[in-house]
Amino acid sequence: MPAADREAVFERLRESNPHPTTELCYGSPFQLLIAVLLSAQSTDRAVNKATGPLFKAAPDARTMLCLSEGELKAFIASIGLYHTKARHIRQTCEILVRDHAGHVPRERAALEALPGVGRKTANVILNTAFGEPVIAVDTHIFRVANRLGLAPGPTVRAVEDRLSRVVPDRFRADAHHWLILHGRYVCKARRPECERCVLFDLCTYRDKVPPWTVTGSPQASGAARGPSRSLPRRRSPGRSREPA
Ligand code: SF4
Repeated sequence: MPAADREAVFERLRESNPHPTTELCYGSPFQLLIAVLLSAQSTDRAVNKATGPLFKAAPDARTMLCLSEGELKAFIASIGLYHTKARHIRQTCEILVRDHAGHVPRERAALEALPGVGRKTANVILNTAFGEPVIAVDTHIFRVANRLGLAPGPTVRAVEDRLSRVVPDRFRADAHHWLILHGRYVCKARRPECERCVLFDLCTYRDKVPPWTVTGSPQASGAARGPSRSLPRRRSPGRSREPA
């Protein structure tokens, strides 16, 4: 994707949502870490439902360690894989209290040393809690980056590396949330809502759905056009695959 189009992608995403952020509820880096640990293979809504009462009872690493394993599990039993997640949370709290004075470290290596924390979770914490300009690539961002042609790549890491090279600096801090929300609500996996996508003319996805097939005519499809777009431009075709 040409540099001017990359600029246009983020200008439009910013125009649609000037202050994007996570949909997980949290009050501190520690609470965000716990929420992200719980969010694997679960929805943000389900996580928020569980963490509301949990964070009231145990707002930080020390108080969470005071919960027995059974008490902790009772708070998160509505979330998938909660046995494993409870174990990781307790181990993580032990390390935070022992090695980091109860605080969440800001260094990638220290984050990735915590049980259940991989590169993606570390990137979410670095970006959302500490404002670092890194992009955590999940299934939504992988899909959007490939379909759009913004940062095509066969693996999550390849897409992350490419995004780190091609996203303009001034958009880097918010790019994670813009792309994830676009994938979650517009460029959906099974049926992308191209007819209302502000990136339609910039998108290289071969199977994108022209807005007028939904609205009836190109003239009636103005909602799908970006701010400066007249008609869709021809692009070389591209098709993406979801990560396993
Ligand atoms: S035009 Fe369709 S496929 Fe392309 S980014 Fe928008 S929603 Fe996704």
